[in-house]
Order: sequence, then structure tokens, then C-alpha cells
Amino acid sequence: MSDCLFCRIIDKAIPADIVLERGNLLALRDINPQAPTHVLIIPRRHIATIDDLQAEDTLLVGEMVQAAREIAAAESLVVGYRLVFNCGRQGGQEVDHLHLHLLGGRSMEWPPG
Ligand code: 5GP
Ligand code: ZN
Repeated sequence: MSDCLFCRIIDKAIPADIVLERGNLLALRDINPQAPTHVLIIPRRHIATIDDLQAEDTLLVGEMVQAAREIAAAESLVVGYRLVFNCGRQGGQEVDHLHLHLLGGRSMEWPPG
């Protein structure tokens, strides 16, 4: 989708600090990091939100989680990290292209804001 920020990053029309690129996925550092490590894992295919996932996307979501785990290990997040999917406006989603936040390098609080 030409009007989607993350699709434009995937197409290399907008630069990004890409930490992993393989198969169906791409992972990039968040431009406004909320923790020392803040990486977004995104599918190459445009899927707007968690609510738009189809049954056949189940493996893709698993690949996203596995990629997050690998990046967490590469970033030495040995004492823990947080994975977040924001969904919809009240869920805090601002970019309507599915993404998994990987946050680490500091203690996380609960409940989140
Ligand atoms: P959301 O609020 O939709 O769950 O998360 C969107 C994330 O995308 C935010 O954390 C925001 O900082 C990040 N973001 C917004 N624009 C850009 C950009 O142009 N490049 C990168 N790398 N991240 C962005
Ligand atoms: Zn998109």
C-alpha cells in the first residue's frame, strides 16, 4: 500500500535502521524508542491490525514471535523483555500495518499506561 508508512519502509522508499530481513518479515528499530532496545517486527505483506489476521496467517504470527526472540537474544536481553501488539485506536495503535514491539534493556512496569 503506497500510503502505508511501513509498506514504504519495506519498499525502501523511506530509510530505516533494519536489524533483520528475511522471508516474510522485516525488523527495524523504532524511530522513537521507549526502551534501550525497541524493535518493530513487521510482515512484508500489508495486514492492518491483529483483527485483520486470517486463519492462514497463524504461522506468520509465530514467525514474528520467533524473530522477536532471536533479536532479543542478539541484543543480550537476558534478564527479560516485553512483546506488545497494539490493536486499534484504544489499544494505542498508530500505524495501521501489523507490528510486534520488542522492548528491552530496562525494567517494565505493570499495568502499562
Ligand atoms: P503503534 O503505536 O502503532 O503500536 O506503534 C507504531 C510505532 O512506529 C511507534 O512506536 C512509532 O514510534 C514508530 N514509528 C512511527 N513512524 C516511524 C518511522 O518512520 N520509522 C520508524 N522506524 N518507526 C516509526
Ligand atoms: Zn502497510
